[in-house]
Amino acid sequence: MDVITTVRGMKEYARAIKDRRETICLVPTMGYLHEGHLELMRKGRTLARHLFASIFVNPTQFGPSEDLARYPRDFERDRRLCEDVGVECIFYPSVEEMYPASYSTYVDVEGVTRHLCGASRPGHFRGVATVVAKLFNICMPDVAVFGEKDYQQLVVIRRMVRDLDMDVQVVAHPTVRESDGLAMSSRNTYLTPQQRMEALVLKKAIDRAKELVGQGERDTSRIKKAALDLIGEAPSASVDYVEIVDPDTVEPVGTIDDRAVIALAVRIGSTRLIDNAELKAP
Ligand code: AMP
Repeated sequence: MDVITTVRGMKEYARAIKDRRETICLVPTMGYLHEGHLELMRKGRTLARHLFASIFVNPTQFGPSEDLARYPRDFERDRRLCEDVGVECIFYPSVEEMYPASYSTYVDVEGVTRHLCGASRPGHFRGVATVVAKLFNICMPDVAVFGEKDYQQLVVIRRMVRDLDMDVQVVAHPTVRESDGLAMSSRNTYLTPQQRMEALVLKKAIDRAKELVGQGERDTSRIKKAALDLIGEAPSASVDYVEIVDPDTVEPVGTIDDRAVIALAVRIGSTRLIDNAELKAP
């Protein structure tokens, strides 16, 4: 397995593959890999001849008071996991390589970034869209795999690809969970054992919402209230948002006609966790 740290080296590597008319799949990550990432890579392996992963903790998607400095990192472990899962090449650039001095260009996806994390993390999706656009230009994938765990991110990337006419097929992979239901996340490592238990309220709130919708409830304010009440039972939980949105526009909806997505961001202690699920009217 190759590890490439320069933009130039990565472009040369990708270009040689493209010149042979072979296909590339890219799985972008911020590293500290878990089974969720590895599932994306296993899927990626089936989608193209060559599987690339990128590992880059992207500073432009972190706000000034967020966890950039303490974001967990372990490249040696990530390297082994990628190799085991069949990644051919890891793109592992430094911050200076991706954002040299005088860097000045950003991708801003409007509309679908108005709510949820777009509202609670100003600038976050500008950073995400910018780095993903760069990764696409550098790694030249035909296909890229993203997790539904970051639902709004998936919508943002799809919109960017459509609007900027990028030749990349975006494939979504369902959220991978621990056996007790907690969505896997590199940030779960921040949790104390007590907080790890309380973190289950995110999935419980989603399950409660699904149950209500299954029973015929369509009024999203009542569903949100039930979810909020449940989260309120965890002493170290504080809600960033609980919202029910249209799956395509990511705009909040008042009633569930057919399909909607419940998305939540909850702080457990100082760790901000997100989760989401589709709500389908029976
Ligand atoms: P990250 O390293 O957190 O930026 O995530 C890299 C990719 O892995 C993104 O496409 C995420 O949506 C995806 N991902 C992260 N956690 C999960 C999970 N639990 N299940 C599925 N995909 C995930």
